[in-house]
Parts: sequence; C-alpha cells; structure tokens
Amino acid sequence: MSARRKSAPKRGGIADLLKSMQEAVAAAVSAQERLDRLTTVIAKHVESDVCSIYIRLPSDELELYSTEGLNRAAVHKTRLNWGEGLVGVVAETQRPLITSDAPLHPKFAYRPETGEDPLHSFLGVPLIRSGKSLGVLVLQNRESRRYTDEELGAAQAVGTLLAEIAASGELFDPRTTEEVGAVLHRPERLLGAGVTPGVALGRAAFHEPPTPKHKVFASDVAAETARLDAGLAKLQASIDALLADASLVDASREVLETYRLFAYDRGWKERMRAAVASRLTAETAVEQVQTENRARMAQVKDPYLRERMHDLDDLSNRLLRLLSGEPAAAGELPDEAILIARSLGPAELLEYDRARIKGLIVGEASATSHVAIVARALGVPLVAGFDNAIMLAEPGDEIIVDGETGEVHIRPNQDVIASYREKRALQSERQASYAAERELPVVTRDGVTIELLMNVGIPLDMAHLESTGAAGVGLFRTELQFLIGAQLPNARVQERLYREILDKAGGRPVVFRTADLGGDKSAAYMQRRDEANPAMGWRGVRMTVDRPGLFRPQMRALLAAAAGRELNILFPMITLAEEIDAARALLDREIEFSRRRARQLPTAIRLGAMIETPAAAWRIAEIAERVDFLSVGGNDLAQFYFAADRDSEMTRGRYDPLEAGFLSFIAAIAEKARKAGKPLTFCGEQASDVLMGAALIGVGVTRFTSSASAIGPFRRLIRSIDAGAVSKWVKERFEDGTPRLRREFAEMLKRAGAAL
Ligand code: PEP
Ligand code: MG
Repeated sequence: MSARRKSAPKRGGIADLLKSMQEAVAAAVSAQERLDRLTTVIAKHVESDVCSIYIRLPSDELELYSTEGLNRAAVHKTRLNWGEGLVGVVAETQRPLITSDAPLHPKFAYRPETGEDPLHSFLGVPLIRSGKSLGVLVLQNRESRRYTDEELGAAQAVGTLLAEIAASGELFDPRTTEEVGAVLHRPERLLGAGVTPGVALGRAAFHEPPTPKHKVFASDVAAETARLDAGLAKLQASIDALLADASLVDASREVLETYRLFAYDRGWKERMRAAVASRLTAETAVEQVQTENRARMAQVKDPYLRERMHDLDDLSNRLLRLLSGEPAAAGELPDEAILIARSLGPAELLEYDRARIKGLIVGEASATSHVAIVARALGVPLVAGFDNAIMLAEPGDEIIVDGETGEVHIRPNQDVIASYREKRALQSERQASYAAERELPVVTRDGVTIELLMNVGIPLDMAHLESTGAAGVGLFRTELQFLIGAQLPNARVQERLYREILDKAGGRPVVFRTADLGGDKSAAYMQRRDEANPAMGWRGVRMTVDRPGLFRPQMRALLAAAAGRELNILFPMITLAEEIDAARALLDREIEFSRRRARQLPTAIRLGAMIETPAAAWRIAEIAERVDFLSVGGNDLAQFYFAADRDSEMTRGRYDPLEAGFLSFIAAIAEKARKAGKPLTFCGEQASDVLMGAALIGVGVTRFTSSASAIGPFRRLIRSIDAGAVSKWVKERFEDGTPRLRREFAEMLKRAGAAL
C-alpha cells in the first residue's frame, strides 16, 4: 500500500483549477457568462492559446458554446455534424484526439468564422456521461507541439467534470439543460446477439449499479469532509460485520480481509480527503481517486495486483452507494426487472429473485455459457455482446429485450412497445400450439422414432415435463444447486432435492449428472485456483476423484433418494476410461456403506459417461464397456473440437457446429456407440437449435435432451421430415467439401415440406 501512496499524483495544481472552476460555476451571473469564465480558467490552467467547449444538440450537431481564444462571434454559430471535423470525431469515437498539426489531419474541417487559421496543435476530449458524448472540450495551441500525458490526464478529468456539471443542471440555462437531458434520455436501439429466445419488457436494474447522480462541487468543505468520513466509517463497519460472521468459509474470509485492509488504508482516505479539500463533493472525490486508480490498473500486468485493484474499485462503488444513501449491495430488483450486467455467472443469476427477472442483458455470454443455460431454464430471454453501450440505460428505464433478434430498446416509444407486446402475444400463442401437440408420437415421416428428453437445472424446471410431453429428464445438472448459497449443501439437503425431482418425474427416467464443478461453474466457498484455461482445467470428474469428501455425500444422497427406484448417474468430463473406474469405486464404497447399515438401495443403478472431450470420443468402445449409456456433451465437445472457448465473445458464432466436419465426427461417435450396443443421447445446447437437431438425426442420433422451450418446435419438425432423406443429404456433404451447411440445409428441408 505504501508504494501506491508514494506514486499518488500531486493534487496542488489540479486543486487550484477545481477551486477556480467551482467559483466560476457558482457565480451569480448569466449562464453564458458562467460558461465563459469556466472556459477561461481552464485555458489559463493548462496554458493553451485556445480552450473551447462544444455541446451536443438534440440534432446531434456539435455547437460551439463557449471559447477562450477563438473568435467569440462564432459562439452559437459554428456547428459541426456528428463525426465531422476533429471535434465530431472525438464525440463520435468517445476517445481523446491529439495532433500536433490539426490542418494536416484527414478529418480536419475548416471553419473560417472561428479564426483558427494560425492554430496547429489540437487536444480534444469527449464529455461523457452515462455512456454518451454530451460534447467536446478542445485545447489548441499556435505552436506545433506535443501534449504531455499529464496534460491529457488533466483535460480528461476536466472533461468528466464538465459532463457531470452539464447533466446536473448547475451550469446551463434551463433550455440547454433540457436539451442535454433530452440527449441523455432519448430512446436507444442497440443490436447485440440473441442468446436465449423470447421477448421481455421491463425496467432496467443493474447487477453493478452505476453511480447515482450527484452534485460535483461542495460549498462547505468541512461538512463534505465529515460526510466522507462518515461514509468511510459506515463502509468499515459493514466489512467488520461481514467478517464477524463465524460461518464464513476460508476463501470468502480471505477476500474480506483484503477488503478490510483497503477500507482502513490511510493513503486511500487521504487522497479522497485532499480531493474534497479542493471543493469537490465526497462522491466526486471518490470518483476522482477511483479514476486515477483505474488508470493505474490498466498498466499493472501482475494478475494478483490487478485483482486487488479490482477489490479497491469495488470498494469505491460501495462507498459511493453508501454516500448516496442507496443500499450497499445489488440484489434488490423492481417487479419486472431487466437485469443488466457486464458479466454474470450462473450462481450470481440464481441468487436473484427469479420471479422478478424478465430479461437479461449481459456484456459477454454465448448460447452455451452456463449463464445462458440457466437463463433458458428460467425462460428468461438473454441478449449479449455489449460493452459500454449498456451504460446508456439508467436504473428504472423502460427496456425491451428481444432474445431472437438480439435487439435491445432503451426508453422505447409507445409504437415500439406496442409492436413488442404483439410479438410477445404471438409467442405465447405459438407455445400454446406446441403444448397442444405434446402427446403426439415423435416419429419421422419414414418411421424413425426419436426420444425427446428435457434438461433440468433447478426444480422449477420440472413443471415443464408435463407441458412439453418430454419422455423424462435426460440431464439434471446437479451442480447448479451447489453454486447457490454460501455453503455446499449437505447430504440431507441434497437427498431431499433429488427425491423431489424423482417424485415430480412420476416414474419417467431421470439422469442425474454428478456435480460438474470447475470451469465457469465455481462457487464462492470453493478453493479457487487460478487456471489460465479453467474449461480445460480441474473440473468435472477430475475434481470428483481428487476430492472424494466433496462427492461422496452426493453419491450417498442419490442412493438414498432413489431407494426402491431406478437410479441413473452420469459422470461429466470423462477423458480416459480409467476415470470411470475411479468414480465408480467411490460409488461402490457408498453402496457398501448403505448395505452395511441395511438401507434400502435403488432397484437398479445405471451408469453413464459424458462424451465431451475428443479423447473420450476417440475411445468410445473402451468407455462403453464400463457404462450402461453414453451422452454427448455437445457444448464442451464442440468447444474442444473447434478449440474455441464457449464463453468468449470473439469465438461465439465463429464456428457453426452444423458443419460437415463436426457432423461427421458425431456420426462416428453414434456409429461406435451403436456397435457397442449402448444407447447414446445428445445433450448439448445445439439440440435446442432445431436445424442442428435435424442434422444430428441425419447422422444417426435418436435421443436428445434439450431445454424445455426447444422440445415443442423440435417435435413438430421431426414429424415433418424424412430421416432417410436427411441422412443421405448430410452424408453426401461429408465428402463434397461444403463445410457450412446451414442455409442450404434449411432450404432443402423447406423444399421437402418440413415444418420450419
Ligand atoms: C455439454 O458440455 O454439452 C453439457 C451438456 O454439459 P455442460 O453444458 O453443463 O458443460
Ligand atoms: Mg459439459
């Protein structure tokens, strides 16, 4: 911590500037005069020949609002279009622009009325608030010179303050304030990627709430210092209280200890107090120090240090919320919430009140991410693929999420709302028509019977067994239970859950997959290891055999819950056949344990192996000898086949599994399973895509397990296709070098009368 204190920037210079800015804003003069004084003090402080402020109008033009150094007659006359000239570029890109010879820049736009002819160097920074450019601050010099990093830093700090002031209404006349407000709050349409289907209308809620609006300058420094101190004391007390909780497991304790260290750090406190002393409000002071901290964070390479810096960032956010009087923790949701998060794990999602979440917007997620799998299970549409764009919304804003098209509407107008209501109604109509077909046999036109099972993550899903007419539960992901809450559920709690699932299945088969922890599924209490590639790391059955203490209670719970009934157990992430022996040995010990106590056992215990590593796919025969059934985990198998991270924004959608190579790979697996005489189920999310499902039928897969929402559409399609013809078509493509088949395949099916 002492190193950080030493490298903290001196506040002397900037403190003077802030003081002069505050005086300019507080002056009892006209709004234009206030703005002009502000421009003058900035110009003086940074020693530039010109300082100008451009403000964005509702038309998206940028108007010169004030200047020191340019021809004042140009104020409120000179305008640049969005993206026009260097000013337009800064506003559009939301990035600073520096050039030592502006007229030579390809985007330079000459405005004779400003009298800028003799100027050469140019430094422009955007005024950003809520993810939007509200204008541009420009510094110019006659000589052709380079601006230093320090000058750029100061300009950015001033730019941030100007945006805050503009939005707070402290600066402009009411008309301009209204116009700035209109820019900030106008409807926005964003296009991301639809990850889980459905349409939702609701109100924005943030997983990590953005900073509440607040004043920038304080008039009473002593009172403001007292507010800051009180906020800090509250923060410290809240962390002490968390640490006093005796039931904390080691991992969480460690994190909180670091938090405490930061919360009591004198260096942090002093830097914020110094900022308040220069007449900023407590909130702005916290943000200023946070900005400095983030700038430093961007340069730190060491992962441990970066993590700690993130802790400090998180702590600053908590402090901001304490100062604003809002609850320190996220988690409170409005009734119809559209939850917005930069990133969200499955456990975090499950910790929310599910009944309130109507839609999700996540920065990064793909269809096979576990957060998407949980979202699908909950029937919540999810759209992903945004970076800063999601900052355009404010808590409570009306939002529409379309999980099919990937569209997000922020503050939509009434027409848009009406058309989405219509779309939602049509969807429920379609769902009802699928439900009406749930009893129909799942047989292709040429008589091939297909079995459709359902994936379950949480007991709530079991209700869909009836409405979809699924033949049973083909994959119960037990680990999702393990991710909720602060502790690992004990054997008794697990037993109750598994019994509930079996009861609800009413005699239909249920496949329990043993906890597939690790990868992107880690819980707070697990001793997390830093692995560069967690998806290929210590997860699934690897963890099972290394940590019998964690898994034997699960086996015991499964045996007890299925007493007197059939039990199907599936092992995830099998790589070598011998791992089945090791996992089986654990189970045998538990069976023995129950026998010795004369407990009733299941009537039959059937074991399965997931085929989700290429190594396992290559050795099906060896694996099949040791189990009763096989299950292709298409999500992981495709991830490893294409060597493309299933969670990464950059690889999402890059490789379509409906491709000759991958399909021929599955064909080989299905053929080997058939030869070994063991049933094979396909359980990746790809089965939720009906086209892919049809192609898989073409390569010999006849059992599928997918999310509830996919079953109705898939049944309808299956009943309308000819498996033999599909098989012939797909297999011909194996040889003829057409890798991407989706469009052609869909056209072929449609021509043949498929219900697509
Ligand atoms: C899979 O990998 O396809 C699978 C079903 O398991 P999970 O998605 O839980 O990793
Ligand atoms: Mg998997």
